[in-house]
Amino acid sequence: MTEHKKAVLQVANLSISFDLANGKQANVVEAVSFQVFEGETLALVGESGSGKSVTSLAIMRLLQMPPGRITSGEILLNGKDLLQMKLDDMSSVRGNEMSMIFQEPMTSLDPVFKISSQLVEGIRRHQQVDKKQAFAIALSMLKEVGIANAEKVIHEYPHQLSGGMRQRVMIAMAMANNPKLLLADEPTTALDVTVQAQILRLMLKMKEEHGSSILFITHDMGVVAETADRVMIMYAGQIVESGPVERIFTEPKHPYTTALLQTMPSIATNERRLPTIPGTVPSPLNFPAGCRFAPRCQYAMDICERMIPSEKIFGDGQMVRCHLYKEKEVTAYDA
Ligand code: SF4
Repeated sequence: MTEHKKAVLQVANLSISFDLANGKQANVVEAVSFQVFEGETLALVGESGSGKSVTSLAIMRLLQMPPGRITSGEILLNGKDLLQMKLDDMSSVRGNEMSMIFQEPMTSLDPVFKISSQLVEGIRRHQQVDKKQAFAIALSMLKEVGIANAEKVIHEYPHQLSGGMRQRVMIAMAMANNPKLLLADEPTTALDVTVQAQILRLMLKMKEEHGSSILFITHDMGVVAETADRVMIMYAGQIVESGPVERIFTEPKHPYTTALLQTMPSIATNERRLPTIPGTVPSPLNFPAGCRFAPRCQYAMDICERMIPSEKIFGDGQMVRCHLYKEKEVTAYDA
């Protein structure tokens, strides 16, 4: 649906490794490529250890380097290569052209400053306004994110607010400078289900009103169903399937995607059909030689252990990386 639109973010062939104490390197993200188009919400989904959060930190240039190391790739935001940018220039991009919302707002909100000064400072860093004007923008942003008693809350400290209120404040801060791209890394995971639904709706409303795009990082397919236009499934540092959200939910092709969907609560009973996917994501120190999902895959064949599956593209922009779809040529594992 979005392929004709302009790409706000282009990630091409991104590989990330970490230096280990023994002098070796662990390759945690491998040749990841994707685009986020204007106005869309793209979800990047995976279990803990899949590489999804490392990818989002690299996009924000918040990856600690060393021990992190970007070994290949480009990250273009509106055509500008973020990886070539000086860190000083990057801080003017962050909070302005792109913002981030984390799972725990207390990691971004400073506990010793009132909400007012944190919002005002963020606004004045990127907009040519005086303190009074910045305060007015801050107040209107708090109202926009649904904080009813905004005149009171703006003078409070973060610890005086509930988790849901703090996340609303974070969204107000993230959207105050009209970023083109919002990176949301598990923004609702710490919240209860009712508040979670409110925050997701709020993010989509803000995206529409501010004309932004969202890259949504999550482990939760339920959240994907609520928010995303397109979805990418990440496993052990690789994108194993991607496509429009309806397609992935109705015709998942990769066994890992199917397993993830089976961990979603059933709408009828609100119970999980399967509590978890058996096994764990392999360590980057010990990735299987062929398909990285093979040790957990009920359909694994001999070829899966020997050869890395190549990408197969289906109609509607669905991509899958799996040997079950044989007509595509496979890439021999070059051991
Ligand atoms: Fe399973 Fe083989 Fe497909 Fe990997 S390539 S997901 S092991 S069938």
